[in-house]
Amino acid sequence: MLKIINRFLRAKCILTIAFLMVLVLVLPQNISKAADEVIAVGRPRISVSVNGDSVIVTIKKTENAARYAVYIKSAGSTKYELSGYVEKDGSKKRKYKLSGIEDGSYAVKVKALNGNAGSKSSKAHNFVVSKDNGKDFMILFTSDVHCGVDRGFTYAGLKAVKDSLSKEHNVLLVDDGDSIQGEPLGTLTKGEAMIELMNAVGYDVAIPGNHEFDYGMDRFLELADKAGFPYISCNFNKEGELVFAPYVIKYVSGKKIAFVGITTPKTITSSTPKYFMDDNGNFIYGFMQDQSGEKLYAAVQNAVDSARKEGADYVVAMAHLGNEANCVPWTYVDVITHTNGIDVFLDGHSHDTDYVVVNNKDGQPVQRQACGTKLACIGWVNIDSAGKISTGLYTWNNNESALKLLGLKNDLSDIMSNTVDSVNNKLEEVVAYSDYDLTIFDPVAKDENGNPIRIVRMTETNLGDLCADAYRDQAGADIAIVNGGGIRVSINKGDITYRDIINVHPFGNMLTVVEATGQQILDALEWGCRTTPSSTGGFPQVSGLTFEIHTYLDSTCTADENKMFTGITGEYRVKNVKVNGEPLDPDKTYTLASHDYMLLNNGDGYTMFDGCKVLQESVKLDNQVLIDYLEETLNGKVSEKYSDPYGDGRIVAVEGFEDFR
Ligand SMILES: [Zn+2]
Repeated sequence: MLKIINRFLRAKCILTIAFLMVLVLVLPQNISKAADEVIAVGRPRISVSVNGDSVIVTIKKTENAARYAVYIKSAGSTKYELSGYVEKDGSKKRKYKLSGIEDGSYAVKVKALNGNAGSKSSKAHNFVVSKDNGKDFMILFTSDVHCGVDRGFTYAGLKAVKDSLSKEHNVLLVDDGDSIQGEPLGTLTKGEAMIELMNAVGYDVAIPGNHEFDYGMDRFLELADKAGFPYISCNFNKEGELVFAPYVIKYVSGKKIAFVGITTPKTITSSTPKYFMDDNGNFIYGFMQDQSGEKLYAAVQNAVDSARKEGADYVVAMAHLGNEANCVPWTYVDVITHTNGIDVFLDGHSHDTDYVVVNNKDGQPVQRQACGTKLACIGWVNIDSAGKISTGLYTWNNNESALKLLGLKNDLSDIMSNTVDSVNNKLEEVVAYSDYDLTIFDPVAKDENGNPIRIVRMTETNLGDLCADAYRDQAGADIAIVNGGGIRVSINKGDITYRDIINVHPFGNMLTVVEATGQQILDALEWGCRTTPSSTGGFPQVSGLTFEIHTYLDSTCTADENKMFTGITGEYRVKNVKVNGEPLDPDKTYTLASHDYMLLNNGDGYTMFDGCKVLQESVKLDNQVLIDYLEETLNGKVSEKYSDPYGDGRIVAVEGFEDFR
């Protein structure tokens, strides 16, 4: 019996141990699972109400939440920032007030928290703050300033106009491109001084024009980072991806104003093409260019539609397109007639000041206003409370500086004088060195008054060679021709400063490349050498070319009453022309680098290139061409091929029949 009891007890004991083990194995899991269900926080739900600049975030009572963290993000930024906490979950305390918020578009998110037990975030809620301070709003715009900050209105004058209008209006200031290039202020700082001044004036938005790229792509993107305002463009892209936002929405006077940026696709050939290529010469940057213009129109329409979808009350086009015939199909008329939804069109690039009304593709009238160049005018746009849009210009005499005439004194006038001082200092900076005098004068001969003879308009000189080589090098062209009249002063041996170089080419002519036939090139040389050995401003200094001038033959060039070339009636004085050692072929086409003055504007009467295909149009300032050649290609040292003041033998004058034989 005892044995039986014993066995029973032992069995019970085993069962008990087994039961306890099961408990130990199973219970803890059950307990922790139960605890989870008890403490886990719910997902908070929120609502947002905006009243002026006071924003209230209301959080619905959330299961198990002990406190809440409120996060906010402004449009354009990628990161939510912690704004603060709501400490209690009492029914009256679940409101969070954001105050003093700047006008703009925001997103808010709330995270429910409970110690270490975890957290959950609400969905993001978007809201907009647009204070209506009772003032109406006004847009001021500039374009094609081209570093002319101390001309016309001047930046100090622009600031004064803006400040004065700001007393009565909410003022937005925008720029339509070609701001950072055009004068030594831009050249010597690679655009930086202009960006600093624009920051000081207080621009709200800008777009790139074709000349924003004159210092290279990397440099422009660097400057865009330094700008205290966004650059926008709906068509500037890298391999199809937009580089900047296509539009930006500004909140003023209780309204949402969308600005859409449009950059002319002509930029590819109106700035240095290689800046838009990768190292292998493939284009990677572009402007939605195609033959029909459809790609550009679609990009603009897309941006306008997106801005409308985002609730824009008005859509303002900020364009660098212009009205020139050679910009078709990308002129402002082309874009307006192929799109809808644009309320007013602020344009630049062609330096005109035209006000034109063009019907859009729905037949709705769109006002287009441009504001000239070098701050001769400031454009304005007004939209009254009834939504009526008007636009026009404040105009000034561009030959007068408002800063000087009015004796303007404001924060900008101080900053501007500092900038001018530092640019003047920079002019003395040494860029290169030469062991040889680079000359426009005969080193020996003097005229009857004992003055040096300026031979750069009669014959080859080493400075002429250098200038022409710079054009050919920077353009990557077969040949280059530079007019002797465009080479103004000599450069003495020793250190070469920025000032020395700018003085050589002070006119602001722009590097241009065309495709010309051998015949056109021969005619150009004949025209340029028609007075040799007498002087003429159109005398050609050349690169990639050699030729003879048979001065015993009279020129048979003909010209019209404006001294424009019309033809050649007899034997050519220019003979034995070679392109890089090969005889010039009259029927072959060559790439020819020069400047806009000679190739596009018939400067010095050169009309033979009219109608030539333009490969690069006005891409870089002449003195920038020389600076880049000396600094980058020659590495700051003028080489021995420029040692002879009469040049390295590209142009040979054949003075008599006997010589010729
Ligand atoms: Zn332009």
